[in-house]
Amino acid sequence: MDSEQLREYGHKMVDFIADYYKSIENFPVLSQVQPGYLHELIPDSAPIHPDSIQHVFDGEILHLDIQNKILPGVTHWQSPNFFAYYPANSSIAGFIGEMLSSGLSIVGQGGGVIQGTASEAVLVVLLAARDKFLGKFGKNALGKLVVYASDQTHSALQKACQIGGIHPENCRLLRTDSSTNYAISPAALSEAISTDVANGLIPFFLCATVGTTSSTAVDPLTDLAKITKSYGIWLHIDAAYAGSACICPEYRHYIDGVEEADSFNMNAHKWLLTNFDCSALWIKASQANLVVDYKDWQIPLGRRFRSLKLWMVLRLYGLENLQSYIRNHINLAKHFEDLVVQDSRFEMVTPRIFSLVCFRVLPSSKDEGLANKLNHELLNAVNSSGKAFMSHTVLSGKYVLRLAVGAPLTEERHVNLAWNVIQEKASTLLSTT
Ligand code: PLP
Repeated sequence: MDSEQLREYGHKMVDFIADYYKSIENFPVLSQVQPGYLHELIPDSAPIHPDSIQHVFDGEILHLDIQNKILPGVTHWQSPNFFAYYPANSSIAGFIGEMLSSGLSIVGQGGGVIQGTASEAVLVVLLAARDKFLGKFGKNALGKLVVYASDQTHSALQKACQIGGIHPENCRLLRTDSSTNYAISPAALSEAISTDVANGLIPFFLCATVGTTSSTAVDPLTDLAKITKSYGIWLHIDAAYAGSACICPEYRHYIDGVEEADSFNMNAHKWLLTNFDCSALWIKASQANLVVDYKDWQIPLGRRFRSLKLWMVLRLYGLENLQSYIRNHINLAKHFEDLVVQDSRFEMVTPRIFSLVCFRVLPSSKDEGLANKLNHELLNAVNSSGKAFMSHTVLSGKYVLRLAVGAPLTEERHVNLAWNVIQEKASTLLSTT
């Protein structure tokens, strides 16, 4: 490692990335190429001889390969016109923290458990809960262990159950509907647990969500915790997206009851300006275990020094700027909601809680099949325009459009532009149905 070379190449790469951000709005937000397009454009094997760095930066590779071959295949998650899924934030603070972490390139030790993703977090805690119960009931009890969640819980839980050897029939996804805004009903949970206990099964794990992926539903933590406590069930809270909003006092009440949970997780890389990946996991540790070996709270032994970038974000923004960042996105989502409500051709499908708006366009006849087809076509029309990118969900059989505000560069004009594109495409589709 030659320090002067590092300085030279590092500066060039920062220039390239800064230029990328400067022109990010010029790219179609959703990649417009066909899967597999790159096979034709790149060599079949790695080069035998090394390329010169001049070649990489000044000539072919950065400009031809990255600019002309790779970037066209990229969906630009940092584009201000990205409204799909949930965001994956980046920031200067997160970026320089990430640089520092790569630069030091050490195996991080101790100090807590920042996981890569919420999926890893739920797997780790499910395995911990499983071992606790198998320690109590014996290894042969594995086939009797039952997991509870709602039908809105992220599929990461089912993956964790599969890896953890939980019998597929013992994964209870409790049905939700619009009467609870797609949150778990405590009565339904109690009933499912009683039936399982009566059948000789062992309830051991509940995954509650604050801010579901589909529609930001918030499970009633305090009531659920009373039930899990009475049966000794491990309560995990997945707040991957909405956990960030809870840094604002006015949203903190959505995690009331968290003190009763055994574990809690939020992704700072979703909506807290920390570059991917940074998923914070808290686990209630017993007072008896004062010495904690954190390597046992995660899958890998070695891990990256992820806390550096979160620390950099906290230092360089400060709580007040992070709170206004979240509030600004929520206000932009409110603004979009107002636009939807003012146009009688559209309806809100669930109440907006954080920065996600779930809505749909309605055909003139009250035909649900037609409504689903129309919304599916509308989504395709908007996304293929390259001007905005949204995603969808299905709630009670309805095909619903999701507009999630959360990209760091998004301003009111981007939300207005997205709405204009939606209205324009809807008008065209409605005139032909
Ligand atoms: N949980 C919730 C509520 C989510 O919204 C998501 C992803 O959007 C996940 C879990 C999975 O996150 P990850 O990609 O960090 O595993």
